[in-house]
Amino acid sequence: MMDDHNGSRQIAVENPATGEVIAHVPDMTPEQVAELARRGRAAQPVWEALGFDGRAKVLKRMQRWIMDNADELVRTICSETGKAYEDAQIAELSYGAAAFGFWADHAPRYLADERIHSSSIFVKNKRLVLRYRPVGLVGVIGPWNYPLTNSFGDCIPALAAGNSVILKPSEITPLTSLFLAKGLAACGLPADVFAVATGRGATGAAVVDEVDMIMFTGSTATGRKIAMRAAERLIPASLELGGKDPMIVLADANIERAANHAAYYSMFNCGQTCISIERCYVEAPVYDEFVARVTDKVRAIRQGVPTGPGTVDVGSLTFPPQVETVERHVEDARARGAKILTGGKRGRTTGYWYEPTVLVDVNHDMACMREETFGPTLPIMKVADAEEAIRLANDSEYGLCAAVFSRDTARAEAVARRINAGAVTINDALLNYTALELPMGGAKPGSGIGYRHGAGGIRKYCRHQSLFISRINPGWDPHMYPYTAWRSRLFARLLRLLNRG
Ligand code: NAD
Repeated sequence: MMDDHNGSRQIAVENPATGEVIAHVPDMTPEQVAELARRGRAAQPVWEALGFDGRAKVLKRMQRWIMDNADELVRTICSETGKAYEDAQIAELSYGAAAFGFWADHAPRYLADERIHSSSIFVKNKRLVLRYRPVGLVGVIGPWNYPLTNSFGDCIPALAAGNSVILKPSEITPLTSLFLAKGLAACGLPADVFAVATGRGATGAAVVDEVDMIMFTGSTATGRKIAMRAAERLIPASLELGGKDPMIVLADANIERAANHAAYYSMFNCGQTCISIERCYVEAPVYDEFVARVTDKVRAIRQGVPTGPGTVDVGSLTFPPQVETVERHVEDARARGAKILTGGKRGRTTGYWYEPTVLVDVNHDMACMREETFGPTLPIMKVADAEEAIRLANDSEYGLCAAVFSRDTARAEAVARRINAGAVTINDALLNYTALELPMGGAKPGSGIGYRHGAGGIRKYCRHQSLFISRINPGWDPHMYPYTAWRSRLFARLLRLLNRG
């Protein structure tokens, strides 16, 4: 994957569906990252000074630019990820365009000065204001599964808040970010406010060393390294990490809907979504019917090299080593007694492939029920009742999302509230991610720290500044020197009066 190209270290970018090399990008050194940081810091005050309206103009132009360049954008995403056209259209193009509009519209409200009222007796007649000011230079490090949505996407609120941003995309999928950087420049973003640092882990580490705040999306193992370095530098880190999302099907569910959701949201993007349905628990009375329907639907999936709209349902895996991970999970399950109802092998030989796979007779001793698979597999487990389903759903180091299916939404909600996950959908899955007003983040350390989306999804790119303004200004305040016994006695009475409980 690495070679010399024009005298500097380069990374070869492959189309994982075909194995062809489609581009080369620089493997940037720490010195090059430091230079991007220096320029980003110099450019940031001008960007901040444009204010919400000035920045919104650029962001709205970019929203239109994305739609005007949709074909090329989707082609770029598909070429470096191997995903189906519709996976890019539904989960990346539509997210990216909406996010530019959303943050342009919502940044002024989420980051407006807040008037604070205090109960302290010392601050009567003062004006208290909480202000959100940009941290300055934000670093965003992203994974390969959604180069627009989960990598570039986090730069949008950071920019809307008035920061400069350095994005370190995955070395597997850098082309989408480089394409979008051209768009930002064409839409009038001042030079150096946004930069793409292409490279591998070492380039990412250099970004952490330079910025004022780091937003990381990726594996739990790398997240831990980022958190340790951020702690050394005393900079804030927001971490969106792995998932092993459970789906619970209660006996009174609409089984056709549940089966469609299980098949679609376990295989969407070839199963490479942090909030994919990765394991399924089904109440015994509907287990057989559910398994039969899911298996038929998964068997009918058309997998292949995407060549445009409607050509395939599922594309290839994106990250070459992912093939071994998926294979290891399936083989481990098979060796421990699981049955494979469809799929269960690599499929094509050129590029990186694994067939959509349904497993049954699985249990929590198997890797496929405990570790993140991040591939096109759906292990389904029969449970006696909702209690067992909740216990097993919570038996995980991860807690990103979960889904509950039941016609009794009150009962489903009661189940949802007992699942330790950052988000739980009822009779639905994954679409919560499209509601940019709704916070999204892990509930357990394995799935991360912090949130994206909602007010918290932009305030994390800011520091608080509290303003304390004294408007009535006598020469002396009564609590000052000289201390006198009568004033102290008076103050004691006042304190008793105010703290009666
Ligand atoms: P990864 O952790 O291997 O890499 C992520 C990024 O970190 C890459 O850009 C990589 O170059 C960089 N990196 C690697 N080592 C580094 C270091 N020491 N310092 C700084 N940067 C470093 O993850 P991946 O394989 O690219 O992505 C898949 C993972 O991402 C899965 O676990 C998935 O669940 C997770 N993910 C989570 C979310 C979420 O929102 N929670 C979204 C998408 C993906």
